[in-house]
Amino acid sequence: MNCIEALQRLDAARPDGSDLDQPEFRDARVHLECCPACAGEFSRRNAWDLAFLTASESAAESTSLFSVPDGLATRVLASLTSAENRAAVEPEATRPLSRRGWLTILTTTALVACVAVVWQSTLVTSGPLTVDRIRNWPDELFDSVDDAEALAALPEFIESGIPLPTGWDPAWLDQPIRSWPERTTVAVMSFQVPLSRRERVKGLLLAVPAGEVLDRPRVNDVTTARPNYSRSGRFSTAAWTDAESGMVFVCLVAPGHYERLRRALVPQPV
Ligand SMILES: [Zn+2]
Repeated sequence: MNCIEALQRLDAARPDGSDLDQPEFRDARVHLECCPACAGEFSRRNAWDLAFLTASESAAESTSLFSVPDGLATRVLASLTSAENRAAVEPEATRPLSRRGWLTILTTTALVACVAVVWQSTLVTSGPLTVDRIRNWPDELFDSVDDAEALAALPEFIESGIPLPTGWDPAWLDQPIRSWPERTTVAVMSFQVPLSRRERVKGLLLAVPAGEVLDRPRVNDVTTARPNYSRSGRFSTAAWTDAESGMVFVCLVAPGHYERLRRALVPQPV
């Protein structure tokens, strides 16, 4: 058996050497004993494989802190294994797991770990929102509805076209429109609705595509929505689903100002 044949044959051995005593590796083993070059190459390969195994295991361990969807790992493994099986030549099917087979599984372990991390991080930013989450979000950043500094610190809204609530005048909105830093589909606007010639109601308006909201409000207009205080008590909030624009709107005004906003928005009898 020459060097190439020996190393090819040893490719089928397990990286931990647990199956080296099998008869099929006997000739290769004999070759290793009398060929220092191959013995060195063989131990380098095994060391690399074992290092990879350790790294994969620790990656899998660190990601086990997160929850992975049931069966995800099984499905990824199954798809790779079936591809491997299709490629395999029939007589080889009974051979013990080859080095390449081991590497496939090790790589898959690392892949599943990566998928788990990516899956987890996208969940944070693209998981469904609730009205409560939207309603209470300004508590974290805004001292009041006209906290211009907090508003200016937000990124500009980059999605094209901002649907407004039906009947709202674009001139009521201050420019530029902002967005949530971690979720660019959520528009954050500050508005001033004229109440009389001198009086205005100031507030914040958050707009989210209705499809992203888990518990879409049943009311379809701010004037019929039931106001709720935000967690901090700094804002009186109202949420509604605007069927025409396909958006969920959450509007925040200072405590006690909701009635004024409602009066400003309800069409006055002529
Ligand atoms: Zn050799």
